[in-house]
Amino acid sequence: MKRTEIWGPFERMRPAQIEAITHSYPIAYLPWGALEYHGVHNPTGLDSIKAYGMATDLARRVGGIVFPVVHAAANLISSYPLCDFKQHSIEFSEELIRMMCREYLQQLFNQEYKIIVLLTGHAGEPHIDILKEVAQEFNKKYSDKYVWALAEFDIVPDEVLVANHSAIGETALQLHYAPETVALDLLPQNGDITLEEHAVSGEDPRPATAEMGKEILNIFLENATKELNILIPKYITNH
Ligand SMILES: [Zn+2]
Repeated sequence: MKRTEIWGPFERMRPAQIEAITHSYPIAYLPWGALEYHGVHNPTGLDSIKAYGMATDLARRVGGIVFPVVHAAANLISSYPLCDFKQHSIEFSEELIRMMCREYLQQLFNQEYKIIVLLTGHAGEPHIDILKEVAQEFNKKYSDKYVWALAEFDIVPDEVLVANHSAIGETALQLHYAPETVALDLLPQNGDITLEEHAVSGEDPRPATAEMGKEILNIFLENATKELNILIPKYITNH
């Protein structure tokens, strides 16, 4: 007998396959990424790869439907005042992000989803606040459904991971998900790594390893699962 699937990627499933999952797990994972310059050592889609990977790993544990990553963000390094990294980013306006987020959430709420996990891989400000504000709007309006908007570092202790741009945390996660896309040897071997010169905000990425990434991921999954185990009985009646 075929094992009953508890999760699946939305764009690769037929309606009956989606419904077979949402019948028991009406949970949508919406990974929100960015196309943003991440220094010479990381790929432009780091935030998207990270958000999609973490959302998928969480869905595998908890159940639900993973939507394609939204490659659209505002407040990128390309417009950061002290930096001169104008190339290799696609930046959208804050207004568009707010609108897009509203339209995504409204359509997911109009369908069978009771819980939406909006996981943002990009932490630029106010981009991340806009996503959280829109989530709040929906949570005020609907009492029988819930949007949980978060960044991965929101639920991981600071000594393991803090908000960063292409620093040790993001690089470790990228090494876990797609090691072939990382080239730490392109960073200088000696001297300081800075935001202005290397597009790194946070701790030196040079000692990052895939194992560190896996450790961050495991703590994230543990804590996110705990939170969802509280939300699921509140919003999903057949559980
Ligand atoms: Zn990033």
